[in-house]
Amino acid sequence: MLFCGLQKTTLLDYPEHVAATVFLGGCNFRCPYCQNSDLLLDPASYAAYTKQDILSYLQKRKNILTGVCITGGEPTIYHDLPDFLAEVKELDYLVKLDSNGSNPFMLQTLYEQKLIDYVAMDIKSGPSDYLKVAGLTDPADHSTSYAFSDEMLARIRESVYFLMHETDEKRFTYEFRTTVVRELHSADTFREIGDWIKGAKRYFLQSYKESEQVLCPGFSAYSRMELEKFIEILKPNIPSVALRGVD
Ligand code: SF4
Repeated sequence: MLFCGLQKTTLLDYPEHVAATVFLGGCNFRCPYCQNSDLLLDPASYAAYTKQDILSYLQKRKNILTGVCITGGEPTIYHDLPDFLAEVKELDYLVKLDSNGSNPFMLQTLYEQKLIDYVAMDIKSGPSDYLKVAGLTDPADHSTSYAFSDEMLARIRESVYFLMHETDEKRFTYEFRTTVVRELHSADTFREIGDWIKGAKRYFLQSYKESEQVLCPGFSAYSRMELEKFIEILKPNIPSVALRGVD
């Protein structure tokens, strides 16, 4: 497990909690608008902490922090994620997991073992162009084992179904979220997503922001007014849909 970053305190990452955020390196997707290209392309060179460093910090801050966010990269690529989260849970933290939803078996395992309390899952696009938007269709890229494969889309659908229909909202929260990119998403995208995740409890649209770390520079954002039009498309199927972090 590559521990590439630790944000020691955040009020933003875990709703209603003061949390720390742990960044794990590596991802099985190659979303071209990814803001964490350093964690994708050469994660080993960014491994800055050991597991013990992270656990020691969490032990020390037990009286101040209530939550831990596990993000990446894609945390579920690590088979030893349950072992790490079990140690975090022993410290009595609530755990939020950010995931691209590519490993429904891991999500189910973590849920059943009560190692996660909240999952924020990306919805990259509607099913018809999901693999393209997740960067899994480039024949030159052999770094992702699911390139060209519809198996990945089936896994994403399984994760969506599991979160929506097989979790207990009395003890567990999920959200879906989409980073909206002008060159990759359109009104049709949100018609498709609205049909797909109809009835989702929480769904947020976030605006793309250009940064130095973006994997393939050159994308752009929609205006707030344009994003609000997408919200109107989604509302009949997902009444709670909202913008997040949009200026
Ligand atoms: S944005 Fe895409 S490529 Fe980047 S970490 Fe998330 S899933 Fe992986």
